[in-house]
Amino acid sequence: MTASLIDDIRAAAPALRGRLIANQSLADLTWFRVGGPAEVLFSPADEEDLALLLGALDPAVPVTVIGLGSNLIVRDGGIPGVTIRLGGKPFGSVAVDGDTLRAGTAVPDMRLAKAAAEAGLDGLAFYRGIPGSVGGALRMNAGAHGGETTDVLLEVRGVDRAGNLRSFSHAEMGFSYRHCSAPDDVIFTSALYRGRPGDREAIEAEMDRVTAAREAAQPIRERTGGSTFKNPDGGKAWQLIDAAGCRGLTRGGAQVSEMHCNFLINRDGATAADIEGLGEEVRRRVREHSGYALHWEIKRIGVSADAI
Ligand SMILES: Cc1cc2nc3c(=O)[nH]c(=O)nc-3n(C[C@H](O)[C@H](O)[C@H](O)COP(=O)(O)OP(=O)(O)OC[C@H]3O[C@@H](n4cnc5c(N)ncnc54)[C@H](O)[C@@H]3O)c2cc1C
Repeated sequence: MTASLIDDIRAAAPALRGRLIANQSLADLTWFRVGGPAEVLFSPADEEDLALLLGALDPAVPVTVIGLGSNLIVRDGGIPGVTIRLGGKPFGSVAVDGDTLRAGTAVPDMRLAKAAAEAGLDGLAFYRGIPGSVGGALRMNAGAHGGETTDVLLEVRGVDRAGNLRSFSHAEMGFSYRHCSAPDDVIFTSALYRGRPGDREAIEAEMDRVTAAREAAQPIRERTGGSTFKNPDGGKAWQLIDAAGCRGLTRGGAQVSEMHCNFLINRDGATAADIEGLGEEVRRRVREHSGYALHWEIKRIGVSADAI
């Protein structure tokens, strides 16, 4: 099945330049370090190559894009179809022009923050503490410490499932809390940001404050996926989880962090099913205790082990 999918792709797009790998483990590519393989992992050479693959691929084959895997649970049965991960220079560069920055979507958020600081551009220091990529930040409207992607973004380029190049203005991205309503099939390839002229040293000091605050409050050295649930209107997810008695709760090798109870951690050889099951147990207990229905912020993708 897998070999034939790669054969089919090569036959449909002989000029493809990117790398196709069958049965690539995804556990190594996510922060939780769990999950099954991608049936096929594709790393496009550049935007044109990405468009070539998407245009040539049988529309029935599912396509999934991942960034740095810092907000993901990949289920134990892996991801059918083609999983796309952007990397390399064409997707990994930042260019500054006056008060704007254009970044490829494989650029880590932390590098974007650093590039803005070096150029004396303020407003992007919040990215210093977010361990994802620009692509993930666009899809999640990532934010922290009073700043969000929506505050600094001007426009985005991407490629849709049919292989068409698309661009989206800020308004067309439809940002809301940890959400973007650009069509789900679009793979973002680059983004244009605007910073405010500022003082480099003051911006760097702000970035140091962001780092220190995270180290004090979050289990950033654990295998985790960041905030598990969105904060409900008028409440804090961690407080509801704590009040429901879930701090430190375990399931298999997964645990609700003792340090920050809206974080789940892979404490000891957890499976994706342990982590997702623990999250569902937390949701159940919070609903019973306070009546709040928590909504997942972490994206859960792929199929469970018993589906294969
Ligand atoms: C320790 C820790 C702390 C965190 N702190 C914060 C925080 O303070 N604030 C915050 O907002 N988040 C935080 N997160 C969550 C996470 O870092 C962000 O959501 C981040 O933006 C995800 O980026 P990623 O590249 O890892 O995306 P992934 O986790 O790989 O994917 C997330 C989503 O983005 C989509 N995606 C990825 N790349 C693209 C692309 N090129 N085009 C289209 N869609 C794409 C994926 O399909 C998926 O739906 C934290 C996570 C950890 C582990």
